[in-house]
Amino acid sequence: MAKSKYSENLVRMKCSQCKRINYYTRRNKKTSEKKLELNKYCKWCRAHTKHIETKR
Ligand SMILES: [Zn+2]
Repeated sequence: MAKSKYSENLVRMKCSQCKRINYYTRRNKKTSEKKLELNKYCKWCRAHTKHIETKR
């Protein structure tokens, strides 16, 4: 019954500069109203860039 719950909450964090997906994360449904934005290190840009959530 709860089989697909994890994959539903899986989101990709995409670098806003090079558009590459660097991180995967899960989140609960309570925070699903607004898009996630995190400052993460991008190995392609070799810098900390803003990573934006993309839906599956
Ligand atoms: Zn990047």
